[in-house]
Amino acid sequence: MWQFTCENCGSKEYTLQKRKVICSYCHTRYKVQKGDPFTFGAKIDLVDDINILVSKCIKEPHNAKRYANIILEMDPYNQFARRYV
Ligand SMILES: [Zn+2]
Repeated sequence: MWQFTCENCGSKEYTLQKRKVICSYCHTRYKVQKGDPFTFGAKIDLVDDINILVSKCIKEPHNAKRYANIILEMDPYNQFARRYV
């Protein structure tokens, strides 16, 4: 049986989201690929995700606070997001 082991911290605890497996311990995220239950070594770049959320804050000011909170979950010291919360 397949078992998750985080490459980053060795944890076997994880959370499964739509297309991602997230290490419960260090929050490293891994892509899940169709057909191939869990393909690791494909870490999702946190910086990319944050950049996408930052641009959403700018484009959708009415939702900025919500996006900022998501950014702060990933990067609690993000200066940009802190302005919105
Ligand atoms: Zn981990």
